[in-house]
Amino acid sequence: MHIDTRFARFDAAPGDPCRPTSTPIYQTATFEQESALEFGRFDYTRSGNPTRTVLEDKLAELEGGRFGFALASGMAALSTLLRAAFSLDVTPTSRGSLIVGSDLYGGTTRLIERLVAPLGVTVSSVDTTDLQAVREALANPSSGPTWILLESPSNPLLRVSDIPAIAELAHASGARLAVDNTALSPYLQNPLALGADVVAHSGTKHLGGHGDVTAGALVTRDEGLAEAIGFLQNAEGTALAPFDSWLLLRGIKTLAVRVAQENRNALEVAKFLERHPAVSKVHYPGLPSHAGHDLLKKQARGTGGLLSFETKDPAFSRAICESTKLFTIAVSFGSTNSTISLPCKMSHASVPDQAIKQGRIAPLPADLVRLSIGLENPGDLIEDLKQALVCSQQSEAKLKPRAGPLLH
Ligand code: PLP
Repeated sequence: MHIDTRFARFDAAPGDPCRPTSTPIYQTATFEQESALEFGRFDYTRSGNPTRTVLEDKLAELEGGRFGFALASGMAALSTLLRAAFSLDVTPTSRGSLIVGSDLYGGTTRLIERLVAPLGVTVSSVDTTDLQAVREALANPSSGPTWILLESPSNPLLRVSDIPAIAELAHASGARLAVDNTALSPYLQNPLALGADVVAHSGTKHLGGHGDVTAGALVTRDEGLAEAIGFLQNAEGTALAPFDSWLLLRGIKTLAVRVAQENRNALEVAKFLERHPAVSKVHYPGLPSHAGHDLLKKQARGTGGLLSFETKDPAFSRAICESTKLFTIAVSFGSTNSTISLPCKMSHASVPDQAIKQGRIAPLPADLVRLSIGLENPGDLIEDLKQALVCSQQSEAKLKPRAGPLLH
């Protein structure tokens, strides 16, 4: 079956005698039991709910895994994964080692720096686009499990890591690989098929797709890991609620067309920005000039709707954000409408200062602007950016003269 069909059509309510074509929302906290000693398939929504089960099975199928988990947010998913990976619920010492990609969502860095490392996990930040650096990081022996966690493409610099090669390096040294696949969605990339051991998502992005739900997901084929994740999901009560599960299911039905259109639009926008003299650098792996272009073509079915660019002038970048009319200034990405943001001040402002000062995390360029491209007409988006670049140049010119002509 073609991938588009798998997103659009699925059994919405397995075993339901009424045969609804949309999954019913089981908005109930408890389920009546046959007797005091018989629990039945479901007993309590924190532990299991039929709406969530349809979603979790669908997530597992779309990512090519055996076990899917829907959680309250992307951060709940990543936190649960790291707690399961390092037995943070069970063993008080001997945690092991976590090698993280050097470009990660700011909240993930905060989670690792403030909550995971203090529990005894040795964390090292590595440029995972450099296989030699990964090899060297893996060569450091660890007293517990070793995991690699990366985003590919990463948020917000859109760096592409070689997932199959890193999985091979990890497995050869007894380590395991987790990939945050939020940027591309399961429509464009399936890390488990590329060798990863577990895949994570912020469902708030493409899976939900309409900016109206906060959600997270984990998918794995590993039974032991799945057992640990399932235990934490129930014990800590981080499972996704029934209505939010339904919103995600609804989002998944249109994901293929949304992501394909966002991908086409983003390429147009990236090409425009690359030609603009006021833009010093564009980060978009769909451009042949991007360092990860060829690699991404090998391991993914598209390049997504997320891109970022630099201008060499943070004040100018801020003015661009504030001069756009179609782009909403907002954190997050993967929604139907296009958004614009300054990662340094917004989505990545939570990276602890100490980690940057101590050189553990490289600071993001202060002039970096991130765009999440939605479903608007690409011509309208380009016109809006064009006028914003001109407006910003003019308002900046009032403050200080800029060299070079304005582009119209
Ligand atoms: N992973 C990535 C790549 C993200 O960009 C985000 C949020 O922006 C998250 C995880 C966290 O997801 P959530 O905001 O749903 O908790």
